[in-house]
Amino acid sequence: MLSSYEDKLNILSFSHTELSEIVASLGEKPFRGRQIFGWLAKGVETFEEMTNLPSRLIKSLKEHYFIGLPDVEKTQKSKDGTIKCLYEFDDAVRVEAVFMKYSYGNSLCISSQAGCKMGCTFCASTMNGLERSLTSGEMLGQVLKMVKITGEDIRHIVVMGMGEPFDNYDELSKFLKLIHDENGYGIGYRNITVSTCGIIPAINRFAEDFPQVNLAISLHASNDEVRRKLMPIASIYKFDDLIDVSKSYTVKTGRRITFEYSLIKGVNDSVEDAERLAKYLKGWLAHVNLIPLNKVKERKYEATGENTIRTFKEILEIRGIPVTIRRTLGNDIDAACGQLRRGR
Ligand code: SF4
Repeated sequence: MLSSYEDKLNILSFSHTELSEIVASLGEKPFRGRQIFGWLAKGVETFEEMTNLPSRLIKSLKEHYFIGLPDVEKTQKSKDGTIKCLYEFDDAVRVEAVFMKYSYGNSLCISSQAGCKMGCTFCASTMNGLERSLTSGEMLGQVLKMVKITGEDIRHIVVMGMGEPFDNYDELSKFLKLIHDENGYGIGYRNITVSTCGIIPAINRFAEDFPQVNLAISLHASNDEVRRKLMPIASIYKFDDLIDVSKSYTVKTGRRITFEYSLIKGVNDSVEDAERLAKYLKGWLAHVNLIPLNKVKERKYEATGENTIRTFKEILEIRGIPVTIRRTLGNDIDAACGQLRRGR
């Protein structure tokens, strides 16, 4: 799928090979495709900025294509340095992306869909359902625009913003190839993380297609009963099957899986929950990322207290499960996990 604007196509959705074919069809030398791809990765907003292209090529490109960088509708800066942008695409669809500074480098969390149809009961992104999926060019545009706004290099990407990436698998995989291409922005696959709510067939496919990209699974429970309350997808894909497919992912790829676990007071944070989780995850390449729940005002859930979080962590650690507590960034601007929306 390509987004169009006045019947023009978003040129950001094309690989450098496709661009070479396009320029060849316009009677130009194929190497021009690589030049265009390189310019786009620099965040140019007009074809005229591609100063080493002949003017006749610029004219032809302008007839058929547009550079689909999103407009910035709103920027919020947290006291911890996190920056959240509300982007708007050419058809007025809006999504959010979040820039974060870490000791290991700058990271950007992007959205893969406007809204989400998965219905997780603790999440703001799904409250008005799915508006539409984003194209690969629109995902790339979120990165390139953020580099422009901040003037900073981005070396890590997490596809963990609005939407379920595996509900938009084909465009996601095109985006991963675009952002990884060393002729363009060139981010290593190992510096990219994709997060899913647990769509089992797509996990198998992802292990084949992108064995080097990090995979995170939103688990948030240690059995079907609790998981179904939090995540409707759990009624389709059973907990045991999700654990089995995760194990086989680690065997196939040799990579560990991160399980995201938002701790919700009185829902999934008991000693029994921690012990049951440890039983499932012991002895293979599983890592747990505990997330103190980020408050969404329309949702009834409360965050687990610090002492209970610590106890939960210790129970996992004692049983040999690698576990971290996620540092919550951008909470004061609703930029943390589960808080992103289509606009306000
Ligand atoms: S947590 Fe992820 S999959 Fe679930 S509703 Fe929110 S955006 Fe969608």
